[in-house]
Amino acid sequence: MIAKSIQQIKTKLGERARLIAVSKTKPISSIMEAYEAGHKIFGENKVQELCEKYESLPKDIEWHMIGHLQTNKVKYIAPFVQLIHGVDSLKLAAEISKQGEKNNRKIPCLFQMHIAAEETKFGFSEHELLELLQQGVINELPGITWCGMMGMATFTDDTGKIRQEFKNLKQIFDTVKKEFFSHQSEFKEVSMGMSGDWPIAVEEGATLVRIGSAIFGER
Ligand SMILES: *Cc1c(COP(=O)(O)O)cnc(C)c1O
Repeated sequence: MIAKSIQQIKTKLGERARLIAVSKTKPISSIMEAYEAGHKIFGENKVQELCEKYESLPKDIEWHMIGHLQTNKVKYIAPFVQLIHGVDSLKLAAEISKQGEKNNRKIPCLFQMHIAAEETKFGFSEHELLELLQQGVINELPGITWCGMMGMATFTDDTGKIRQEFKNLKQIFDTVKKEFFSHQSEFKEVSMGMSGDWPIAVEEGATLVRIGSAIFGER
């Protein structure tokens, strides 16, 4: 079942976007099933679980941290994480950069943007991010490579609203790319779309989709 779902999603994605299989709460055996079917990119949202899975699974897996990240836990994932999707403050970015330098690497990161109507979701507003970028404080951190943006749409059945939020994220991405990262080829990712809304996200320009339950079943 897992292999089949991955295959179906990848066929629909084609060359437009890459799939991050969100394996949070799921056992090693489920991840191995996906891995043996040829899938190597996985996303987790808790540091401890991510580290445990990294330790016990093959080392050619690309691990993405997709959840809210606490500053004091960055050090645990800094040596191996392939992309941090949820950077939502200057304080967190500064710590990631420090840990990147300690590990002699530039850690690939995305700005998490607040695009949903719900107040509980994390992320920068467009205004906040533009201000930090104009001040030059966040874009010049030596231990980070900025690779784009991530966002989560409102949890709703209103597909028009979801589409509008994804359009909004893509538009902020385009503005920020043009103004601040036009010479940086790595700044190319728009991480949006989950099990319930990824086809809309891809239509609106997602380059990374984060899909969990549609692959591994309900949590
Ligand atoms: C859990 C999670 C996903 C995947 O959600 P599904 O609805 O199971 O596809 C995607 N992104 C983030 C940030 C998540 O925490």
